[in-house]
Amino acid sequence: MLPVQLIRKKRDGGALDDAEIRGFLAGVTDGSLPDYQVAAMLMAIFFRGLDDRELATWADAMTRSGDVIDLSRIARAKVDKHSTGGVGDKISIPLAPAVAACGVAVPMVSGRGLGHTGGTLDKLTAIPGFRIDLSVEQFAAQVDAIGVCLIGQTARIAPADRRLYALRDVTGTIESLPMIASSIMSKKLAEGIDGLVIDCKVGRGAFMKTRERARELCGLLRAIGQRAGVRVTCVLTDMDAPIGRTIGNALEIRESIEVLRGGGPVDTRELTHALGGEMLVLGGAARDAAEGRDRIARALGDGSALEVFRKLVAAQGGDPRVCDSPGSVLPRARHRDELALPPGRITAIDSEALGVAAVVLGAGRRTTDDVIDPAAGLVVDAYVGEVIEPGAPPQVILCHDLAPGDARLGEARALIERAFTLGPAGAAPPHAAPHAPAAPAPSGSRILEVIR
Ligand code: URA
Repeated sequence: MLPVQLIRKKRDGGALDDAEIRGFLAGVTDGSLPDYQVAAMLMAIFFRGLDDRELATWADAMTRSGDVIDLSRIARAKVDKHSTGGVGDKISIPLAPAVAACGVAVPMVSGRGLGHTGGTLDKLTAIPGFRIDLSVEQFAAQVDAIGVCLIGQTARIAPADRRLYALRDVTGTIESLPMIASSIMSKKLAEGIDGLVIDCKVGRGAFMKTRERARELCGLLRAIGQRAGVRVTCVLTDMDAPIGRTIGNALEIRESIEVLRGGGPVDTRELTHALGGEMLVLGGAARDAAEGRDRIARALGDGSALEVFRKLVAAQGGDPRVCDSPGSVLPRARHRDELALPPGRITAIDSEALGVAAVVLGAGRRTTDDVIDPAAGLVVDAYVGEVIEPGAPPQVILCHDLAPGDARLGEARALIERAFTLGPAGAAPPHAAPHAPAAPAPSGSRILEVIR
């Protein structure tokens, strides 16, 4: 069939057969299909969807549009984690070494920051010398040698996704669930993994605003995994407040090292334990999630996870002294401005607004070719339910290299002030303190639901 006939078929609600899907995606990958026909197909899929068989074939063809990394020579189970993107989401950094320290290999291909959400790669490159541009061969060798490697998506991994993603971004078709699911899974299945844990963020700061939509996405991710022989566990987690106390690349590395030393904010530790526990179950290193969580907590507490992180940093060209003395190795912002909230009880935090404020200070990109300031970002010591007393110490620190009077400072301050909703001090707290460094387990857990 001609491409236009395939577009019509989908537009009119038909199901594309496997050969048609593979042929179409071959044309996406080799560039023989023009943008306008690819975009028209994306819009047809946006409205008509894909059935289970079409989705599995679509995802498989995207995965095979580039290299599928062969890690079969590595005897250990290989399990990765993917997050749909959150503000202050640094979990991969303590998680990957902790899981590797428990005997499960973690081959992780990560992304750069997208919009208001930061990317693991941007955080890691805040460590002086850290390289994320390893070849596929170097990636496999490092996973074999130390059990973990974190790199960026190369041009050889799922190239069809690069083109589709760029077109979706500018044609109003990003929100299509089958397209999101196949985009995520094509990159993960190309890593040569046996299992995958999805951290599906739900809430104001997330792609998925409701639990229903998150469950729907997770159903598609798991169906694609099942057809490919990869077990997928989905953990729905709350994104109604930033994760931990820091937003910004070097700041988040510092906080990750606190977690690798057995400390760090309660919510950041909870997420690391929970996601790591599920990864160990998938990798056969724990009988159940509770045992998995305990093993991860022990690896963080006894220094073994930190030792794997040290090897990871050294193997990828970074300065391993960051593990012992992050303050002297990581870049530091020249200015630290304070912001105090008005008195009252915090009833809601708009994490997206805080993410955007960090981007405005230089922690993320406004356009694709923006250069990130690795030292820029926010330290936020405030949580939903907290009562701010008159004259309390400032709750937010703005870290930046902007000149005094720069308009971006005013913009960031306004975003931060608007991000906090304050009610009367007597209003009932919806959460306990998820960020308090030494608080007992918070009743406001971030784990909403686990789908195994
Ligand atoms: N992350 C991806 O990799 N792809 C999407 O489409 C959305 C989030």
